[in-house]
This record gives sequence, structure tokens and C-alpha cells, in this order.
Amino acid sequence: MALRTYDEYIESLKAMRPNIYKFDELIEDVTTHPATRNTVVGHGHSFKLSSEPEYKDIFTTTSHLTDEPISRYLSVIQNREDMWANSRLKRRMFQLSGTCTGGRCVGWTSLNSMYATTYDIDQELGTDYHQRLRAWLKDAQRRDITIAGALTDPKGDRTKTPSQQDDPDMNLRIIERRKDGIVVRGAKVMICGVAAANEIFILPGSAYREADKDYALSFVIPRDIENLTIVETRHPSDKREHEEGFDIPVSEGGITQAYLFFEDVFIPNERVFMAGEYKFTKQAVFNFISAYRAAIGGCVAGQGDIKIGAAMLVARANGLHTKVFKDKIIQMQINNETTFGIGIAAAALGKEHPSGTWLCDMTLANVNKVHVATLPYETSRLAQDIAGGIGETGCMPSWKDFQSSRYGHLIEKYLKASSSAESRTRAARLVEWLTIGAGVPGCMHGGGSPDGAKLMIRAFGDLESKVEIARRLAGISEEIPEPGGR
Ligand SMILES: Cc1cc2nc3c(=O)[nH]c(=O)nc-3n(C[C@H](O)[C@H](O)[C@H](O)COP(=O)(O)OP(=O)(O)OC[C@H]3O[C@@H](n4cnc5c(N)ncnc54)[C@H](O)[C@@H]3O)c2cc1C
Repeated sequence: MALRTYDEYIESLKAMRPNIYKFDELIEDVTTHPATRNTVVGHGHSFKLSSEPEYKDIFTTTSHLTDEPISRYLSVIQNREDMWANSRLKRRMFQLSGTCTGGRCVGWTSLNSMYATTYDIDQELGTDYHQRLRAWLKDAQRRDITIAGALTDPKGDRTKTPSQQDDPDMNLRIIERRKDGIVVRGAKVMICGVAAANEIFILPGSAYREADKDYALSFVIPRDIENLTIVETRHPSDKREHEEGFDIPVSEGGITQAYLFFEDVFIPNERVFMAGEYKFTKQAVFNFISAYRAAIGGCVAGQGDIKIGAAMLVARANGLHTKVFKDKIIQMQINNETTFGIGIAAAALGKEHPSGTWLCDMTLANVNKVHVATLPYETSRLAQDIAGGIGETGCMPSWKDFQSSRYGHLIEKYLKASSSAESRTRAARLVEWLTIGAGVPGCMHGGGSPDGAKLMIRAFGDLESKVEIARRLAGISEEIPEPGGR
């Protein structure tokens, strides 16, 4: 079974041990519960489309381990074309679901990061992490599972390292090393799409020193493993009355975030890919962000494509030719193609790691992260600008009021413009959803903060070479060092 059907995917989630809570209640079935079903449906598109000729090339590829057809989300990214497919896939998934499908893509990036990192650990230390990862991956591809990803958290006081925290559990850590595995304690706050995932891939959260070696860990677990408790966070749509009438198409997706609580979870050795090798934590994080921050430009471009379409629909429904908004729409296009294009460029200028994985250009990937944390907000602003007040939160009556026998006809009469009131409202509802609801999360901090990315740009940007260029062109022969040293 290298490629599952949508129904097989749903069945696999139903068969899992319930361990996800929301509003202090256990969610028995993530595929039907209102808090999680949309995210499952959103992720499920990837299974439906894998068999469609039009999308097959984007959603599937060939395993370099077995030569079998597999989901691209479970592949090792081996060249720039694979990375381009990553960006295209993410843009497409956003267009289809209206929001993020992190319960597949973060796990994908995590496994790729550790594919390279375990190779290097083994080369230097003679361990067998890479073989373990390959064995697990082969099986994961055979089972065609969905995998969420977590760079460990919750970090506590940001000025202190993990071992300096008053509470040692503020970063996920190894509390016991057994012959057959490790026991871990701690938490992860904010992981996306976990309800739609069969497994969760864990990576170190930062670069650690020797004092923090118990925090240097990586492993993969079934989402329903013993002693793991998951709490779904609140969601912009929670408080909204159930507007099935307006929300049916939008419910084809909808990302959720969750908190993971590890209360002494046992991980068997065959699923452990780092356990104390602190020197390699920096590399694990860098390998992750080089791919993630490149391809996230595809996500926000897909999201922006819908913003453009939705804003144009409202304009037309309002009776306005979209030429009226030409400059604004062009700016939205420029924003979309900037993040998409820089991701493509980061892939193009990447290089092959000795393990066979592809590492994107760090400077461009981080430049993209900064744009991803900026441009989509402007695109949202423009979408609201074009749509008018009806596209902003709380400015239109509910579906139930539309149906009212007493005043529904009045709402319809006065919300009508160039198109019917219902079509106008549906388009405006989509603008609201995209700009204030599920469309927004992830741009600012998903994949790390923009300030963190700026530090990387400074570190990888080779500023001294630029100083040298200027010094030569200016005809300056003496050295001009930084006052007080670097
Ligand atoms: C929608 C969403 C989805 C997410 N999904 C996932 C996921 O699937 N998997 C996953 O692993 N993570 C996920 N995350 C978590 C994400 O990676 C973190 O939010 C991100 O790394 C930023 O960390 P933080 O939220 O703890 O912010 P903080 O670390 O608290 O940062 C807040 C601000 O303080 C700055 N700052 C932090 N520390 C310092 C310091 N020492 N000195 C100076 N400035 C500092 C930061 O640059 C930032 O500007 C998600 C986040 C969001 C918002």
C-alpha cells in the first residue's frame, strides 16, 4: 500500500486512540468532531488528488528507497526540481483548502532535515541513526501516513538556555535512557494540523551546548502514543455561530493548532534519531529552516491567489469593474509572486548534501521568511479595501438571519447589488475568512520569527565581502575595521 485512498486515510485516523481534547472534552473521532473535522478534510485533499492525472506529478513521486510511487510529502527532497515541486504543491494545497496543511508539510521538512543530520552524526560518531531513519521512512512510505512536525518548545524565559530554566521541563528533554529507548518529558506549544496526522516528528528547537545535551533529541511517534496528551487551541471560528450555509465551501479546509504534553513518553530506539548529540542540533535546525522558509512562500502565494479571486468577486458583485482596482490587484499579484519566486530561487541556488538531500540557499530562504511575515498582511489589507465593509468581521448578518421568515427577505433585498445578496455575501465571507479567519495564521511566526530570520540573513549574507567590494571601488588601501572589533 504505497498510496492510500482518502477513505483509507480517514479510517486510519478513526482507528487511533483518542488523546486530543478541546473545551475540556475528549474528542472521540477527529474525523467528525467540529473542532477537528475541517483540518482532516483539508489534509485529505492530498489523498484525493494523488490519483488525479492533472495533479499526480505534484502530489506523488518515486521513492529513492523502494522505487515505488509514494506521496511527495514522504519523499526525500533530492534536487532543485523536488524543491520546486514542494513550492508548487504548497501553493496548490492552499488554493484547494483555503488554508495550511501543516500536518503533512512540517513533518515532511522535519524528516528531510534529519535525513541529512543523521547522516552527518553517523559519519562523525559511528552511530546508526541514519539507518534507523531510512528503515522508518521506508515503512512510513509503505503505510502512506501523515506526519506533523514539532521543533521543540515551549522555551520558557527566552533569555535562558534549556538547562538554565528554573523549571527543567520548559524544553522537551530526555529524563531516562534505557537500553531499548528513551523517556521524554516536556511540551510543544503550537503545532499545526496534528489532529490530521498519524505521526509526529520531533526536532531540537534550537542550537544547544553540552549543558543542554538532554534537550538534543529527535524522534518520531504515533500521534496516539501512551502518555501524550494533546489540547486543540481555540480557533477564530469557535465563537462564530454555525453558519453552515455560508461556510460549506470554506469548510473544505481549516488549520488547527494544538499543544502537546509529554508526560514521560517512552520512545523505542528504532524511532530515535538524536539523543544527546548536541553538536548537531544547530545543523538540524538550519536544515529545517532552509527548506521550510523557501517553500512557505508557495503557501502564502496560494493563500494570496484566493484573496485576489475573492476580492475581485466582491467587486464584481458590488457592480464595479475590477479595472477600478487594477493597481491594488497588481500589487497583490506582486506580493504573491515575490514570496513564491524567492522560494524557487532559494531552491535553485541550493546544494546537494552528501546524504543526497537538497539544502536550499540560506540567505534567500530567510529573506523569504521576512517577506512571508510582511507581504500577506498587505495583501489582506488590499482584499478588505477592495471588498468594502461587508468583507470585514461582523459586518454581515448570519446565514440563519438570511433564512428568517420575518426579515430574511429584507436582508436579501438590501444586500443585493450587482449580483444576488447570497453570492455577494458568500464572496465577502471568503474575504473575511482569508483576512481575519483561518487564512492569516502562520505568516508571522510559523517556521520561526522574522527577527530570527534577519539574524540568519546577517550571518549568511557575507557582509565583509561587500565591504571589500566597496573598499576596492573607492580606491581605499587601508583596512577600516569595526570600532571596538566585531
Ligand atoms: C500558526 C502557527 C503554526 C505553527 N505551527 C508549528 C508547527 O507545526 N510546528 C512547530 O514546530 N512550530 C509551529 N509553530 C511555532 C513557531 O515555530 C513559533 O511560534 C516560532 O518559532 C516563534 O516562537 P514563539 O512563538 O515562541 O515566539 P517567541 O520566541 O516568544 O518570539 C516572540 C518575539 O521575541 C523575539 N525573541 C525571542 N527570543 C528572543 C531573544 N532571546 N532575544 C531577542 N528577541 C527574542 C522573536 O524574534 C519574536 O519577535 C507555529 C506557530 C504559529 C503561529
